[in-house]
Amino acid sequence: MTAEEGDRHADSHRGGGATGLYTAIALARRGHQVTVIDRDRGPDGGRWWDRKGVMQFHHPHFFRQQVADALLAEMPQVWHGLLAAGAEPAVLPGQPGVPAGLHCRRLTFERVLRSAAVAEPGVRLRTGRVALDGLIYAGDAACTTNPAAGRGVTTSLRQAQQLIGLLGEHGRDFTSCSLAFDHWCADNIKPWFDDHVYWDTDLIRRWSGQDVDLARPLRSDLIVAAVQADPELITVVGPYQAMLTPPGTLGAVQARARDIYATGWRPPIPPAPAEPNWPAWSPRRPARMNTTPMPCPAGRTPRHRQPWRTPSPLAA
Ligand SMILES: Cc1cc2nc3c(=O)[nH]c(=O)nc-3n(C[C@H](O)[C@H](O)[C@H](O)COP(=O)(O)OP(=O)(O)OC[C@H]3O[C@@H](n4cnc5c(N)ncnc54)[C@H](O)[C@@H]3O)c2cc1C
Repeated sequence: MTAEEGDRHADSHRGGGATGLYTAIALARRGHQVTVIDRDRGPDGGRWWDRKGVMQFHHPHFFRQQVADALLAEMPQVWHGLLAAGAEPAVLPGQPGVPAGLHCRRLTFERVLRSAAVAEPGVRLRTGRVALDGLIYAGDAACTTNPAAGRGVTTSLRQAQQLIGLLGEHGRDFTSCSLAFDHWCADNIKPWFDDHVYWDTDLIRRWSGQDVDLARPLRSDLIVAAVQADPELITVVGPYQAMLTPPGTLGAVQARARDIYATGWRPPIPPAPAEPNWPAWSPRRPARMNTTPMPCPAGRTPRHRQPWRTPSPLAA
């Protein structure tokens, strides 16, 4: 993100993903003239959108409640547009009525958000590749987490919200704004990055066949799994899983989880999908969220007819 010379309220964003579009709409509503520059051209008129650089674009996603809250706070029409497009609100397991976020394909999420940006006075979308001085990195450009945990858009929109507030506070002083943003990210976003670094490193070790290492602090995924042995751990683990409390809060149950693993207990290995269950995972099931079939350019095979493209059960 940078500011164009000569115009007090002219901002330019590189990147029209979730972070760029959300920030652009919110800043435009605060009186800024915003140009979003993305190398992707956007949907080509019809419903098809072969998005460059977002490999998971046609996969089902889970967007956490923080994402829903961020949309409702700044642009409720995007939330309602997502529901109208077939996105399904999620509730916490075993707690009907407690909102947990939203299920929909990434394509649906970005299409609705992009439509809102196109319709927003004060936002212009341009195609191109740019290198700009004075950039403030936000979203995945600042912190990328393991997609299997479905945390990326939450950390991205939390950053967007913070950055919008800081831009209002610091005005054209981009140096102090970016330093303040950096400090905030170090306190609020980096712990999630570190959590994945520790967790993923140990997971790779265990996937290589090694056992839980009780000589070192247990990684977050092991503490989460220990809820299966002691359901009372959920009082600490649940808020962490919902990203309402930071990873460090798991320290309160580290000792209890270690006691569980010290008995020899290990998380049960989930059963592999049996072939007869595969249709339940097929792209046709989540396709009910996008009920209108997408026309496909001539010569291309529509993705819902590509049997090898199976959406991740983690994101479903
Ligand atoms: C397989 C997978 C599954 C995921 N599932 C989930 C999920 O279920 N829930 C969740 O919350 N998160 C999920 N994530 C994470 C999520 O995709 C990211 O956190 C999110 O996309 C970050 O948004 P962003 O706008 O910061 O970046 P992006 O979405 O990557 O957008 C960046 C934009 O910048 C543009 N761009 C880049 N360089 C240039 C340039 N030089 N010039 C012009 N334009 C440029 C790109 O074209 C792109 O449009 C998943 C990620 C992966 C990989």
